[in-house]
Amino acid sequence: MAKKQFKAESKRLLDLMINSIYTHKEIFLREIISNASDAIDKLAYLSLTEDTGLSRGNFEIRLSVDADHRTLTVSDNGIGMDKEELEKNLGTIARSGSLQFKEDLKNAEKPAEAVDIIGQFGVGFYSAFMVADNVSVLTKKYGEDTAWLWQSSGADGYTITECEKDSCGTDVILKLKADTEDEDYGRYLQQYTLENLVKKYSDYIRYPIRMNMKRSRPVETEDENGEKKTAYEDYYEDETMNSMVPIWQKKKDEVTDEEYDQFYMSKFSDFEKPSMRISASVEGAVTYQALLYVPARAPFDYYTKEYKKGLQLYTSGVLIMENCEDLLPDYFSFVKGVVDSQDLSLNISREMLQHDRQLRRIASNLEKKIKSELARQLTNDREKYEKFFDTFGVQLKYGVVSDYGAHKDLLKDLLLFWSEKEQKYVTLSEYVEKMGEDQKYIFYAAGESRTKISQLPQTEMIRDRGYDILFLTDEVDEFVVQTLMNYNEKEFRSVSAEDLGLETDEEKEQKKQEAEENKELLDFVKETMDGKLKEVRLSNKLKSHPVCMVPDSGLSFEMEKYLNRVAPNEEQKLHSGRVLELNAEHPAFTALKNAYATDREKARKYVQLLYAQALLIADLPLEDPSAYTDLVCGLMN
Ligand code: ADP
Repeated sequence: MAKKQFKAESKRLLDLMINSIYTHKEIFLREIISNASDAIDKLAYLSLTEDTGLSRGNFEIRLSVDADHRTLTVSDNGIGMDKEELEKNLGTIARSGSLQFKEDLKNAEKPAEAVDIIGQFGVGFYSAFMVADNVSVLTKKYGEDTAWLWQSSGADGYTITECEKDSCGTDVILKLKADTEDEDYGRYLQQYTLENLVKKYSDYIRYPIRMNMKRSRPVETEDENGEKKTAYEDYYEDETMNSMVPIWQKKKDEVTDEEYDQFYMSKFSDFEKPSMRISASVEGAVTYQALLYVPARAPFDYYTKEYKKGLQLYTSGVLIMENCEDLLPDYFSFVKGVVDSQDLSLNISREMLQHDRQLRRIASNLEKKIKSELARQLTNDREKYEKFFDTFGVQLKYGVVSDYGAHKDLLKDLLLFWSEKEQKYVTLSEYVEKMGEDQKYIFYAAGESRTKISQLPQTEMIRDRGYDILFLTDEVDEFVVQTLMNYNEKEFRSVSAEDLGLETDEEKEQKKQEAEENKELLDFVKETMDGKLKEVRLSNKLKSHPVCMVPDSGLSFEMEKYLNRVAPNEEQKLHSGRVLELNAEHPAFTALKNAYATDREKARKYVQLLYAQALLIADLPLEDPSAYTDLVCGLMN
């Protein structure tokens, strides 16, 4: 029989599994059981609308051990798979439709990197190969007559053959690896180990996980002298190993943090503990339990279109929707979790659900709850919150900007910005609280990096006054401040804006006069640059630096760069006007002034030089770098 090859990336993953790079091999059982439970969920859901002949009480997951053959079998009476599904689901890595995964895995050079990648994606079915050198899957799909056997010894491929099976469902049969010095694979044949693993990882599974257990009991016998004595005899009994109570329905004090974390990790295939847990048990206008988590790091596809937000939705313990999008607003799309409400009808269609009043109520409650929990972490555990913000903050920022700012009031206090003065993240409220009486605006500067921003000459005077500047380095940041417009009645103001509110009326008047006096020179500068400058003016924001370039409108150079990167064609590109600001107190200005009076040609060169310098400082490209070099060298002799 011809062996089929695994898809390339599956093969790589398999290799990694076979070579057992992951230290917690025992999680294989959790993964297999979780698949079994999902398969039962699917059939249970079908049973709601169709007569499958099965009711809740019939469903089970069964573990059985054959010590002689060294096999562990996990059976379920769920939906099963047909041949095509077997091929599709087990011949490729199900979860990894994403190109990203394939790429990452291909590029991972060290096993450690691969563990990291697998950690982000979850391992699923393939984890069986961590402990087994041969895996068989015997399965029959509900409603079909034919059963199929999938078999693989790992990297060399798999076979699928037709076979017999009494009822629908799936048996996953693991032929355990031979024990090695470091690893005792035989322990997965021991009921004690299996009991512990089920308790540890799969206790909440809502279907019984059963096993025929060997127990012993005392029996009264008589010895040869006719004296009574107690002996022990073995007997076998079917036992349910898990408590089956959904973890979210248990009282909080009955569940340990560890159990809550384990539940999250197994349910949402994360190898890392969550960074936050939110639980809610609400009775009233609408009754529901929710158990939500914020992952410690972003899922691999989080910032792509492939990522699907949503919560698992149950009604009275029956899963009705794997991913209910309507329960989460986009700006909290990173939240994972389950919601269970007895107020929702079991047979409700997905389309109807969207308009369901109860569901909308739950969604709105959850939104408030998530917000308040995040705010609480911000106050109580700043370090943790900052880590969260580094991971998901951008999503909150997009939330502020989206829907024309409709959610800005909800989100503004969850935002953090880098403070130049404090050299750490601050909230807007912290910034405003520290503003002195005389400071009119919330100052911000946008740039590619903190270092680049701190080098901008136009930050000089503001810094000199002792005012703080928020450093905006995310592309969305400027849109955020423009959407917010102000915070606690304090307006945002870019450090490049013409008026920074730094001068007294008197000083302003003086500046105006100075500008009048230099009008001819400023006009000369503008003319020399022949249409490249929108305006030339004396600066109010420079101290030690000679020049700076600022935009003439709200469209900063950073935003201009960003928008032009995403612009579909040349015509759609935007250019804000360039304004050259000169520091009248600087020797360079005096030199320009003198040259203007005595040697126009030299003055022209000085203008070009200052213009080029201003571009460079603003991180804008020179139109002709070689002409610039010639110019500088020409001035050297
Ligand atoms: P995941 O469970 O995350 O999708 P897996 O690699 O664990 O990824 O499983 C791949 C797919 O194989 C599953 O999505 C499911 O469709 C199918 N599958 C695995 N185990 C079973 C089972 N016991 N019964 C039915 N289908 C199964």
